[in-house]
Amino acid sequence: MIRRDAPLRVVVVGAGIGGLAAAVALRRIGAQVEVHEQVSAFARVGAGLQLAPNATAALRGLGLLDKVSSIACRPESWCSFDAGDGEMSLRLPLGDEVEDKFGAPYLHVHRGDLHDVLLDAVGNVHLGHRAVGFDQTGDHLEVRFGDGSSAAADVVIGADGIHSTVRAALFGPMAAVFSGLVAYRGIVPGDRVADTPLVSAKWWGGDRHLVHYWVSSGRELNFVAPVPEETWTEESWAAEGKVGDLLEALSGFAEPARRVAGAAASLMRSALYDREPLRTWGEGRLALLGDACHPMLPFMAQGAGMAIEDAVVLGRCLDGVSAEEVEPALRRYAEVRSPRTSAVQGGSRANDFLRGTSSGLSSEDVYGYDAWRVPILA
Ligand code: FAD
Repeated sequence: MIRRDAPLRVVVVGAGIGGLAAAVALRRIGAQVEVHEQVSAFARVGAGLQLAPNATAALRGLGLLDKVSSIACRPESWCSFDAGDGEMSLRLPLGDEVEDKFGAPYLHVHRGDLHDVLLDAVGNVHLGHRAVGFDQTGDHLEVRFGDGSSAAADVVIGADGIHSTVRAALFGPMAAVFSGLVAYRGIVPGDRVADTPLVSAKWWGGDRHLVHYWVSSGRELNFVAPVPEETWTEESWAAEGKVGDLLEALSGFAEPARRVAGAAASLMRSALYDREPLRTWGEGRLALLGDACHPMLPFMAQGAGMAIEDAVVLGRCLDGVSAEEVEPALRRYAEVRSPRTSAVQGGSRANDFLRGTSSGLSSEDVYGYDAWRVPILA
């Protein structure tokens, strides 16, 4: 419910999964939202994303779950295997069972397909607009872009990813923490691995592992395999990988895992980074969201889920808020979200979620969070 005449003007910096989800959430509460993105055209980048019930419940409230389901795969179970002998150490039923338990499905999507659904819901994005600076006055903010243009807003949301310019402008440069792992991310045409079951499989191999699952409505299998590497010297964030190098790194792995890795049609390598949890998520009329705020290692498959949850809670905190009431509302958003995202950042670093002997977060803790119902204290 909006309690003022003029709609809240919001500028979202970054049109990734988090920024677009935030734009959808904010439009639903009547805000006037502009999204500004640095790239001049979107490419189908990234590979698979797992969307657990906490993420799909958030998408349902945004009115997007039917569309996302139509481009997704719905796995039957999560299976953990010992990479060496292939023994299964844990099987968590997904499919109907997880949906009955948490009220929302577990889905696998190609990031590009999820991005398309969000983009379609948002409509217009200002492409080629790289945010380079901010001027905060008493009653509004001005975002400056690299092409010399600017945009004024009552609220600015920095959803500009792990190397966030908005975060650096707020808190100064902070190097991301290299995990010592480089992830090979591959896509396998479905007909090369047609007998691979419709599960989310994780092959645990000591200091490395391999995760695979179906995406693109079952046309492609996605996999990610983080392996140790002492330093990362590539200039670009991602580089092409070689199947031979990956198979060498997975030399002790059981045959089904090696078969998936060996069948890749495209293979990228990118270093895995995260950051320590931030103590504050913004300042004044400016707040961070998604990887800009809480980048995490992908070992709980929750980075995009956390960004989507952020979007929902942000929308709820700003609902009915006037331009004068923005600052306490943004503080509430951070207070509600930061315990949750810090716990998942920590759990992701520990890399024992669903291994079978985890002493940390359970699937109930992670999947049972409902961003639409979590209490928001005034
Ligand atoms: P991003 O998607 O990085 O988007 C940021 C956007 O901001 C980009 O479009 C960028 O171009 C733009 N931008 C940057 N700087 C500027 C600027 N100055 N001005 C304007 N625009 C700017 N998550 C899951 O939930 N499930 C998974 O299974 C999963 N698997 C993963 C596997 C791997 C190997 C990795 C590395 C990550 C995985 N994640 C997963 C995490 C997930 O991809 C991210 O957490 C999520 O995409 C973050 O979304 P975001 O919108 O915050 O950032």
